[in-house]
Amino acid sequence: MGLKITVERSTSPKQKPDTSNLVFGKHFTDHMFIMDYDAGQGWHDPRIIPYQPISLDPAAKVFHYGQTVFEGMKAYKTPGGPVLLFRPFKNLQRLNRSNTRLSIPSIDEDLAMEALKQLIKIDEDWIPTDEGTSLYIRPFVISTQATLGVSPSEQYSFMIILSPVGSYYAEGINPVSIFVESEYVRAVAGGVGNAKTGGNYAAGLKAQEEASGKGYSQVLWLDGVHRKYIEEVGSMNVFFKIDGKVVTPALNGSILDGVTRDSVIQVLKHWNIEVEERKLSIDELVEAYRKGTLEEAFGTGTAAVISPIGELNWQGDKMTLNEGRTGPLSEKVYEFMTGLQKGVVEDPFGWVVKL
Ligand SMILES: *Cc1c(COP(=O)(O)O)cnc(C)c1O
Repeated sequence: MGLKITVERSTSPKQKPDTSNLVFGKHFTDHMFIMDYDAGQGWHDPRIIPYQPISLDPAAKVFHYGQTVFEGMKAYKTPGGPVLLFRPFKNLQRLNRSNTRLSIPSIDEDLAMEALKQLIKIDEDWIPTDEGTSLYIRPFVISTQATLGVSPSEQYSFMIILSPVGSYYAEGINPVSIFVESEYVRAVAGGVGNAKTGGNYAAGLKAQEEASGKGYSQVLWLDGVHRKYIEEVGSMNVFFKIDGKVVTPALNGSILDGVTRDSVIQVLKHWNIEVEERKLSIDELVEAYRKGTLEEAFGTGTAAVISPIGELNWQGDKMTLNEGRTGPLSEKVYEFMTGLQKGVVEDPFGWVVKL
């Protein structure tokens, strides 16, 4: 590993928010991690410092060309219990896959893991323990070189910030209504759809905004070439239960390889439920709905874990799933996954890492 992480403690700890009513991503803890990169020197000066604004030159490349990547993961704690992370190495490996795609130099995953552990330990008192709450972890990299030439930056900063977050759902899980998007596309294979980078989100906001204006909370993206095959929903991967089997779009270069997606596939297989990773067209979905074999649908992602889908709007036709209620499989997967993450369900997979 070689590099030693230095620590500068905050001398003015902040007031902690009321954990019974946390808004996602609004409050941040007392400390942050930061490490810099310079061509020639490599990554250097890993340090934990008081949470603070950063100063950048207006010409910093990240503002102009969007050379940036991020990750999202969570730390969980029950009252008096240990701090638990869920498959953190998967996130750090994906961070480096995103880095490679965006021409950003790789980060030593063991060093990043050590930084994560030390930072969380220092701000452990910030981890909420109320039902459904957790500490959201946001590692990210920005290109900081101050030149307007279009070329990979020669300077970067890697940072980790922490935010106590509440339950995605105030009263258990509730189905969401989804608008199937036929005008805008999110990504195409060969582009950056399978990297966790800000541009994918910027490109999706317009569709999200229009769907929201029609009363839908997310969009279901179709592929950018045929506008036919299901990709993902908002910032989540998507699963459908059709005629007893579970179908999810195969990783095709334009959708994100979600840690929750991979985990749910393994959990379902562990339960002897058949899972197919393949191309799934909107026509096949409509056909299944008409025949009455489209039983359930849900999105998967770190923030919500499982988000059941109660309605799909495809070109004005509304398809109501499981009478708009959370389906039994969605419920079961949600209970199991969140139980694993909090350490109250036995972990047969070796996914949970104790801090
Ligand atoms: C982060 C993300 C997901 C979910 O990934 P998880 O690792 O399960 O949190 C899905 N789709 C997109 C576009 C994402 O950015």
